[in-house]
Amino acid sequence: MLFWHMGMTCAIVFFALGTRRIDYRVVLLGAIVPDLIDKPIGRIFFEDHFHNGRLFGHTLLVATVMLLGIQLTLRGATARRWFILPICMLIHQVLDGMWNEPITWFWPLFGTEFPVDPDPGYWLRLLTRPWLVAGEVAGVVLLVYLSRAYKLQDPGLRARFLSKGELIDRPERMSRSDRMGSPAQAPDAEEESPTSPKEAD
Ligand SMILES: [Zn+2]
Repeated sequence: MLFWHMGMTCAIVFFALGTRRIDYRVVLLGAIVPDLIDKPIGRIFFEDHFHNGRLFGHTLLVATVMLLGIQLTLRGATARRWFILPICMLIHQVLDGMWNEPITWFWPLFGTEFPVDPDPGYWLRLLTRPWLVAGEVAGVVLLVYLSRAYKLQDPGLRARFLSKGELIDRPERMSRSDRMGSPAQAPDAEEESPTSPKEAD
């Protein structure tokens, strides 16, 4: 499930953290990283071994290690950009209801082997189950709603999003060059506030 995860994760991050300092390109990526890691491994290339599309990327351990790794190795703007990635991985795991699969979620606490779930019709089932299709439609609706709410149909705002991942609350604060679609000069200093939270570094 692609758009379900992307749409729901964007909505959750938006309501929890807003738009300030959040790179929503990283949110979109983090929303599907667990499946990007596990589905090719467990359902395509090593299907005969794993028989499962929920493996390492669906474990608390990998998400936690990534979170710690980002906090300990990155600094400043780079850390602020990427800290949301493992958080979105955790949101993905919650949306997948991983508490129902504790052997995988808490791996390797209950053993190093992942449970097997042979399913020859896995990919066809993904495309035909009504509730899965409904989830994808709901995800698309959420993404379209957010993109319309933040006016990404505007070339300047869209360019800003594509280059920086930013959703702009008040487009009138953008510089003229940003409005023309040239995002090189970011008004970051202008957006700083003396009462803003301490930076991630
Ligand atoms: Zn998943």
